[in-house]
Amino acid sequence: SYHQAVRENKHLYNSLQELRGNIRVFCRIRPSFNMEGKSSIDYTGNDGSLIVIDPSNPQSTRKIFHFNKIFGPDATQDEVYKDTQTLIRSVMDGYNVCIFAYGQTGSGKTHTMCGPCSGLNKNFGVSYMALNDLFQISSARVDIKYEIQAQMVEIYNEQVRDLLKDMPAIKLEIKNCSVNGGLSVPDASTRSVQSVDDVLNLMKLGEKNRVFSSTALNNRSSRSHSVLTVHIIGEDITRCRIRSCLHLVDLAGSERVDKSEVTGDRLKEAQHINRSLSCLGDVIAALAQKNSHIPYRNSKLTQLLQNSLGGHAKVLMLAHVSPEADYYGETVSTLKFAQRVSTVQLGAAHSNRESSEVWEIKRTDLCQQKIIESLK
Ligand code: ADP
Ligand code: MG
Repeated sequence: SYHQAVRENKHLYNSLQELRGNIRVFCRIRPSFNMEGKSSIDYTGNDGSLIVIDPSNPQSTRKIFHFNKIFGPDATQDEVYKDTQTLIRSVMDGYNVCIFAYGQTGSGKTHTMCGPCSGLNKNFGVSYMALNDLFQISSARVDIKYEIQAQMVEIYNEQVRDLLKDMPAIKLEIKNCSVNGGLSVPDASTRSVQSVDDVLNLMKLGEKNRVFSSTALNNRSSRSHSVLTVHIIGEDITRCRIRSCLHLVDLAGSERVDKSEVTGDRLKEAQHINRSLSCLGDVIAALAQKNSHIPYRNSKLTQLLQNSLGGHAKVLMLAHVSPEADYYGETVSTLKFAQRVSTVQLGAAHSNRESSEVWEIKRTDLCQQKIIESLK
């Protein structure tokens, strides 16, 4: 019967979800800046695996990493977004979603998330395309009325600051979302947004207010995590409300302290960054391993994102690497971090198409769940 088919489908979906979890890790290799130089990455592409070779010792053992998806230096912004799109759709269905860009300074995090979005050469990144989709879906749904709000904060030296205020000096408190209507930083400026351009203007303001300082690696390297949060409140004709949020996170550079040759304040920054990134890694790894204790409370970043990590939330980590041989050490450390939080087992055979399919299945299932509930 129909009911039985729905039940069987649901069972199938549950076992698929059990098998694959809600965490995905994609890896993106940026184009090389050094045309003649040797690359440390042997990108094989098709099967979701990536091989790195120690440039100082090419005969040594090659390291192989596996991810849900790998984007080579030629991948376009559109290709990267295409594999993220189903995730964005599920935000409108009531799921909380968190997308991170991880990697050393200069590896392409901001390029992927924001892209060059001013001047003549517009090449929009994930954030813009995601928001564009959110607004398109919300205006196309006649059965649900959506209200969309945005916040933008940064975490710098374990302090949360409002990026939408010209003077982001006041430290903000992280509060329990469940008693604050889904807002983990209720005191941060919360702006109602009607279009993707509204959000773009907020992002520009936020980027301007973000803390920059110089290191030996990059004189405009971002030493803070920036978190753009979009809250979606949908109300259907029965006045039933769905609330969800999307976090778009451009993490601080993951490079290790010794390489940046830093001391004093810069050293303190680097230590805070290293600690919060390793806490993030611990939380995602604990979720991937389905541990009973998830150490959210160890950093501001994981506290802030708690409602979008774990439970029914979906997490996508976009790990970025620089292909130049000089960055071999950082590249391996980024890949190891990303591999640790990935549910894809080292050496396991898998398809690199699975990611979007799984999200598609979940989306369909949510509709089925609604059907099942209405049949009860
Ligand atoms: P990060 O934010 O990780 O420090 P950026 O996104 O600022 O790194 O990238 C460093 C530089 O490399 C920038 O000039 C950026 O435009 C360029 N870049 C990064 N990724 C790509 C890419 N996929 N294609 C072309 N240029 C890129
Ligand atoms: Mg950046």
